[in-house]
Amino acid sequence: MSSGFWAVVPAAGIGERMQSDRPKQYLQLEGKLVIEHTLQRLASHSEIKGIVIAVDQEDEWWPTVSIDISCPIYVVHGGKQRSHSVLNALGKLSTLVADDPWVLVHDAARPCLRQKDIDKLLTVLSKHDVGGLLGIPINDTVKRTSDDDVIIGTIERRNLWRASTPQMFRLALLKSALNTSREQNVTVTDEASAVEFVGLEPVMVEGHADNIKITVPTDIALAQLFMQQQRGEG
Ligand code: C5P
Repeated sequence: MSSGFWAVVPAAGIGERMQSDRPKQYLQLEGKLVIEHTLQRLASHSEIKGIVIAVDQEDEWWPTVSIDISCPIYVVHGGKQRSHSVLNALGKLSTLVADDPWVLVHDAARPCLRQKDIDKLLTVLSKHDVGGLLGIPINDTVKRTSDDDVIIGTIERRNLWRASTPQMFRLALLKSALNTSREQNVTVTDEASAVEFVGLEPVMVEGHADNIKITVPTDIALAQLFMQQQRGEG
């Protein structure tokens, strides 16, 4: 087994909730595109050997991205769902490596990822049998409602987390878990769900709450604030 680490970046979403003229990863943030920040944060970690990114086949914005990073980057086409985009990227990665590296799958729309959180993920998981992901504990009381917004239950918030990324698994295991979910028509919205589906137990690693996913228009201002704050920390 290899001790190498690769990054996979699904970037083929259209970001409907953003209501903008372009997918959210191509919005401006602190003088760069969101995706440029994301790629730089992954590439500047010394353990990341390379990045495979999945972009939409008809993406007219990707060619405008300035790829100023210190590791190799490979581009594949995305699929209909996030998991299909990730599978395409993993397929490409399999042709590039002879062994079974760890893969860190990270959303293109999470530009505030801290180096310290990557360090933590690698430290906690690199000797683990399965792998895991960054997450943030839920502080609010959580309610479940019916379709017409009537509360039908309150969920005990102890041990509840918001799953974020990177999600870190071995290449062969992740490919096999995503393929199994696909064959059995199970929709998975993150990699850990696929790994859980095949009966394994990924580990949750607490990350910093500023690793937000740009989703709605106000998230750009929030990401800007977080980046300024991070610069202030040195
Ligand atoms: O839509 P959502 O915010 O969950 O997307 C998370 C990440 O997955 C984004 O970086 C998006 O570009 C990517 N994605 C993808 N292929 C899809 C859908 C989403 O690569 N078909």
